[in-house]
Amino acid sequence: MNMLIFIIAGLLVHCVFLASIFDIYFTSPLVHGMTPQRTPLPPPAKRLVLFVADGLRADTLYELDDNGTPQAPYLRNIIEYKGSWGVSHTHVPTESRPGHVALIAGFYEDVSAVAKGWKENPVEFDSVFNESKYTWSWGSPDILPMFAKGASGDHVYTYCYTAEKEDFGAQDATKLDTWVFDHVKNFFQAARSNQTLFSKVNEEKVVLFLHLLGIDTNGHAHRPNSREYKDNIRKVDEGINDIVSMLEDFYGNDGKTAFILTSDHGMTDWGSHGAGHPSETLTPLIAWGAGVNYPQKVTFQFFEDEFLKEWKLEKWKRLDVNQADIAPLMASLIGVPFPLNSVGILPLDYLNNSAHFKAESMFTNAVQILEQFKIKMTQKKETTLSFLFTPFQLLSDTEQINILRKARSYIHQEKYHEAVSLCKTLISLALEGLSYYHTYDRLFLGISVVMGFVGWTSYVILLIVKTHTSLTRSTHDKASTVLLLYGFAAIGVLIAFFLLIQTCPWTYYIYCLLPVPVWYAVVKEFRVIQDLASLLLVFPLGQSIGFLVAGALGIEILVFSFFYRSTLTVGLIAFAGWPLITRLWAQAKVTTLCWTLLCLLLAMFPLMPVVGREPNISLVTVAGLVILLISSFFLACLCKSKNKYVPKKDLTILLFQMLSIALSTYVVNSTHSSLHHKQGLPVINQIISWTTLASSLFVPLLSPTFFFQRLLSILLSLMSPYLLLSTGYEALFPLVLSGLMFSWIYMEKEALQHYDDSLKPKLAVLNFSYTTDITQFRQLHLDDIRRSFFFVFFIVTAFFGTGNIASVNSFDPASIYCFLTVFNPFIMGSLLVWKPFPHRSCDFRPYGFALLLFG
Ligand SMILES: [Zn+2]
Ligand SMILES: [Zn+2]
Repeated sequence: MNMLIFIIAGLLVHCVFLASIFDIYFTSPLVHGMTPQRTPLPPPAKRLVLFVADGLRADTLYELDDNGTPQAPYLRNIIEYKGSWGVSHTHVPTESRPGHVALIAGFYEDVSAVAKGWKENPVEFDSVFNESKYTWSWGSPDILPMFAKGASGDHVYTYCYTAEKEDFGAQDATKLDTWVFDHVKNFFQAARSNQTLFSKVNEEKVVLFLHLLGIDTNGHAHRPNSREYKDNIRKVDEGINDIVSMLEDFYGNDGKTAFILTSDHGMTDWGSHGAGHPSETLTPLIAWGAGVNYPQKVTFQFFEDEFLKEWKLEKWKRLDVNQADIAPLMASLIGVPFPLNSVGILPLDYLNNSAHFKAESMFTNAVQILEQFKIKMTQKKETTLSFLFTPFQLLSDTEQINILRKARSYIHQEKYHEAVSLCKTLISLALEGLSYYHTYDRLFLGISVVMGFVGWTSYVILLIVKTHTSLTRSTHDKASTVLLLYGFAAIGVLIAFFLLIQTCPWTYYIYCLLPVPVWYAVVKEFRVIQDLASLLLVFPLGQSIGFLVAGALGIEILVFSFFYRSTLTVGLIAFAGWPLITRLWAQAKVTTLCWTLLCLLLAMFPLMPVVGREPNISLVTVAGLVILLISSFFLACLCKSKNKYVPKKDLTILLFQMLSIALSTYVVNSTHSSLHHKQGLPVINQIISWTTLASSLFVPLLSPTFFFQRLLSILLSLMSPYLLLSTGYEALFPLVLSGLMFSWIYMEKEALQHYDDSLKPKLAVLNFSYTTDITQFRQLHLDDIRRSFFFVFFIVTAFFGTGNIASVNSFDPASIYCFLTVFNPFIMGSLLVWKPFPHRSCDFRPYGFALLLFG
């Protein structure tokens, strides 16, 4: 019963820690209540056409073919003769939704929106579309609705195709783009004969938004170096040419239309996006038409990336922006207020306008960002006790007024250049202040959570020490316990009161109050702590320091492995040498040899590239065959041992699992060859894949509970879905890992005999079905610290052995082709989260068992 309460408490505590990440790091940056700011001078354009070529990389658009012709001749012509160009730098996560939000609303969306699949509006926000008189948009149902939904009133119109059209397995994805171009043409055709529509499209402050998903879809399906991706770029180029001439014709060449082409994010060489690789974050930006600068010839310009030479564009000035800067650029071109939450800085170099206009626009931009800063500061001030509040020093109230007044007077004196640079200073200060207030509570919350975490860890350690050592002295002094209880209750009330007067959100109460009961539980065991301390003090000093250094080193390796996977290799090589420094080497030569070999083999995986690899299905086949070989060998052994009775049911299950492995290997091969020949995903393959996935969850439960049989069964059933999700060398990873785990069990058995000969468990006769009380097995030994470190290290290896944290995001879509080919972020995400899971569980089980055995 006590154990149950403990487990529930542990789960709760961990849920709180997990949730705290969202409150500490991933909070919405948005504030509300600002007044819209508009430049007082007339805008250069009456309407704006925004083309977003989803997933278009800057380099693929700008670079020349092998024979020197541009990928997009029309757009190249614009760069050279008509407009301005540059690279727009996007932020992580390089996904469609945050990219579009940055482009159109001018802010970088908070990462917590990923929990909602980037689909719904987690918060209301203002956008250029919302500020426009009318916006018509055409494109994907994943993108358009979010701007229509946030807009006030009925003035943002959307025309979407159906979600089923986005199949990137079989069809020709350029159809998504031709659909958009055709519908725009039809729309204007209809406007000619429809009087109300005609007057609407002739209004000022009109936005036309063409979302072109074909390039992204083709990039996912065929990768950006493919013929399909490049052909799609050409199609888009032609389409834009058509639309521009159609619009100029429609509006009678009035010279009042501005055009912008950009993309929401790029794409890696292997057809994914989401992370921060330059191929994902560098997107093109080309602007032309009313109010946009003509090409500026330069003799020399320097950029750290050496793209200019490659693109043969050294002579035309490259104007780089941050993605959010495009929102104020668009707003300024058609003269609508800057989106309220925009943090973009108007890229003046793109404007073909008077110095006065530029200065006024920059002033408006500064006031608009300052507004957000002021509101954020007021909010924080209101919810913090006045004597605890530390304002942002660099931008006090008087400083704000001074800068604004000075900038105003510069504009009056026609010192526009000075005004602009002053406004830029103000903007950068305001942005710095915004992030200061945004992260204001981070330290305080972080400390609370760390307190809770340290408390919980200490409590668990105390509990283990209490149950597994002779340090159990439960001579509870009643009076002191009661005193302690009252003391902690008082602290809790105090903290709650403190939070209450600061009107903190309810989640803060959890983070700050959680450490109280946890630490109460720790302090209650102070007698055990005393004993433990006196025990540790008897240790020789040199030895203690040695242990501390080794411990610190081990933990550092674990932490570093989150950032540099190769650290895992270092750790694994050290593990390989472990039997040599202990006496295990002499004790069991074969086991040690296996251990060392497998450690070294596994050490190779973190060194292999996580990204940029080409699919290599034959390696998956090899992995399938190896596992089949192992299981047949085991089957043969099982049948030979005649003295034991083998039930028929057990054999059937083993055969079924072998069949499932063989099928999975076949399905992977057939799916990839079928997709290669553009025949789509065979339905039968899809059915087999999903059945395998479902059956892998319960089949191991039916297998016999004997040690070898159960472990093999678990391995087999986890391998088959893993094979289906693999595209290359990673298929071999779980094999090596489970081999190593297996030899580890034997190693630990040897290590245990090292201390006590009476403990000689026979692995083969062990049975999972017994519920053993682990507390009665044996007492804790120092070696258990090493053992638990191995355990944690192997978990980390299982996670990052073949990928890093970012690779969960920038996954290779090819790896889930066996399951589905229609774009569905939710199912895709779940499948990929499942993918590292097989290694995890197949290692946990043997280890969990080893723990049971030796713990
Ligand atoms: Zn996209
Ligand atoms: Zn995409």
